[in-house]
Amino acid sequence: MSLNPSFRRFFDHAYQSFLLLLDQQWQILEVSENFNRHIAPGQDPIGKPASVFLKNVDGECCLFSSTSQDLPLIMFLELKDQETRYHCQLSDHNGHFLLLAEQLAPPPGQAMESMSLIVQELASLSRDLRRKNLALQKANETINELMRTDPLTGLANRRHLNEQLAQLISLGLRHHDSFSLIMADIDKFKSVNDTWGHDQGDLVLKEFAAIMKKQCRQEDLPARFGGEEFLILLPRTDLKQATIIAERIRIHLESALPLGAEWPVTASFGIARFAEQDDQDSLLKKADLALYQAKEGGRNQTRVFELATNTGNNP
Ligand code: GH3
Ligand code: MG
Ligand code: MG
Repeated sequence: MSLNPSFRRFFDHAYQSFLLLLDQQWQILEVSENFNRHIAPGQDPIGKPASVFLKNVDGECCLFSSTSQDLPLIMFLELKDQETRYHCQLSDHNGHFLLLAEQLAPPPGQAMESMSLIVQELASLSRDLRRKNLALQKANETINELMRTDPLTGLANRRHLNEQLAQLISLGLRHHDSFSLIMADIDKFKSVNDTWGHDQGDLVLKEFAAIMKKQCRQEDLPARFGGEEFLILLPRTDLKQATIIAERIRIHLESALPLGAEWPVTASFGIARFAEQDDQDSLLKKADLALYQAKEGGRNQTRVFELATNTGNNP
């Protein structure tokens, strides 16, 4: 006796229902092909005890035997988490086994109900997912914002400034498009801290940052370079325009009096313009040299690298 071929085919595509033909000692004689795929992959179950394969399977077995002791047993195995139920029945037809299996569909009302529950669940899941994605997007934006912002002044930090400077240089080289850079340093800031305390020093830094932000144009990038040193990137700006902006900031700071009339806070400014032979270091060095000249010249003034022009209260 063997399994009816059309019946085997029925199980070939089933995922969680299997058919086994066993001898009276429960040794496997034959299995539906899906058994080999899902339960005994890479093994040959024929001739082995069924228990070897069934001990790890969470399912229900249904065993059919004939009245004749010589005929094999038929086992129908159905896994526990199976969603489609099969109804099986065995009949003895002229001495042959005939196993009838039919797929049991859930009643229509119940199917509709579970469908609408699934749809509702999916809709709520996708709402949840959308909400979580939005929150994640916001969190990422906040993280990115924090990564490029100086926490004390709210200006761009050095990392962001370096990135933007590299981009301006690359654009400048590609499109022969120049830009200027202002380097600013608060004068005698150490004595501000020593005299007024560190907290007042911090307030001065914030005030200076606010003035810079206000006096810059939308497309300029004021940044805290470190300590009491600041940089402003000025795209498509020549030295003359850059000087006007630096002077505006200098004069506003001078008259802002964040520490009171008896202690005017001032800053010195060095300006440089990007030339095609410049890289980041050489450009910063030019601005630094101009700033050094402003300090040497008596502070509270603006110096331009190329032109070595003096403005402000330089004697
Ligand atoms: P110069 O006019 O030559 O620039 O003199 P300076 O005193 O401004 O320069 P110096 O480099 O001697 O001192 C800078 C001071 O800035 C020393 C440091 O403690 C202070 N500083 C740096 N970062 C901060 C900060 O975040 N907050 C405060 N309150 N002080 C800071
Ligand atoms: Mg200083
Ligand atoms: Mg300094």
